[in-house]
Amino acid sequence: MKKIVLLLALLGAMGRAQAQPTQLKTEHLILVTIDGLRWQEVFGGADPALLGRHHQPAGSLPPASASRQALLPFLWTTVAAQGQLYGNRALGNYLNVTNKARLSYPGYNEMLTGFAADAGIRNNAKIYNPNTTVLEVISRQPAFQQQVLVYGSWDAFPFIFNAPRSGLPVNAGWQPATGPGLSAPELALNEQLRAIDPHGAERPDSLTFGYAFAHLQRAHPRVLYLALGDTDEHAHAGHYGAYVRAAHTADQYLAQLWDYLQSDPKYCGKTTLLITTDHGRGGNRLGQWAHHSRFLRGSDQTWLAVLGPDTPPTGEQRAPGQLYQHQLAQTIARLLGVAYTNDKLTGAPIEAIFDGGLPLLAESVAPGPAGSFAPLSQSAR
Ligand SMILES: [Zn+2]
Repeated sequence: MKKIVLLLALLGAMGRAQAQPTQLKTEHLILVTIDGLRWQEVFGGADPALLGRHHQPAGSLPPASASRQALLPFLWTTVAAQGQLYGNRALGNYLNVTNKARLSYPGYNEMLTGFAADAGIRNNAKIYNPNTTVLEVISRQPAFQQQVLVYGSWDAFPFIFNAPRSGLPVNAGWQPATGPGLSAPELALNEQLRAIDPHGAERPDSLTFGYAFAHLQRAHPRVLYLALGDTDEHAHAGHYGAYVRAAHTADQYLAQLWDYLQSDPKYCGKTTLLITTDHGRGGNRLGQWAHHSRFLRGSDQTWLAVLGPDTPPTGEQRAPGQLYQHQLAQTIARLLGVAYTNDKLTGAPIEAIFDGGLPLLAESVAPGPAGSFAPLSQSAR
């Protein structure tokens, strides 16, 4: 009996030891999405055959853009050396969306809530999202109030975040920068925006990035979401050259952003950068690369890049594996030390992003209407 008591006491002590929370260094988080940029270009560079076949609009491509280093130098120098890249299917490393629509709004919803809302969000119709996103939950924590910013090129983002309900400051589409204390760059961008005739659902990424970067420097938020869209616009138009050029420009924005974060003591060594996309696209044949839908094979295939103080620099993931887009929400919450539950099952955080394994939260996750972890049996390969 004594032995059993001793054993139980020992087990109890071990349990407590394991429950010690791991302290993360991440205090700030930047999420960047590059709409519909395929894993084929991320891991393989621009396709020379497609470049030759689909006429290039005016403007020059980066030299030797067929190589991935030339096309996406920030991803393939800084992130590959200091961070992680997931989704090279040529190596058996997979990342998939689980929503059946394989369109933008369903993709952003899955990424930002942690589940595929197939019954509620079936297409890109601009309806206010009935679901709560992880950024909304984070922004309600006392330490994150007025600390979450969203900038998007696509004018659907106020709907995706249900801005009227969530109160998140979402600047998207043809909206100018508003509010008191605008900086000189923001006022200049407003002038540029006014000079353009609004056309379509997307403003150019140059404006979206400019606004987001200027606001970041002015307000130093803890969380910024930057949603770029030029890649998808040019792809749907069938302009492969413009599509890969937009990807190259997005990579330059990332480099500029990261350089700034490293130069600012508020962010340096305390900021994690996540870069991903909302869906894949079709394959190279018959112009299918231009589009994405539930009927086009490859539209569920995505990728992810991570760079930050809590992420081991394992570079390009070369081992076979399977991750899902619905794991992003819990990963974001865990990086910032925020407990996140939703009224549906949400995907588990991506363990390999955290040095030394997945950290426990300082406070245990209150049992919500749904559990936090949903290892799915479904394989979307
Ligand atoms: Zn999209």
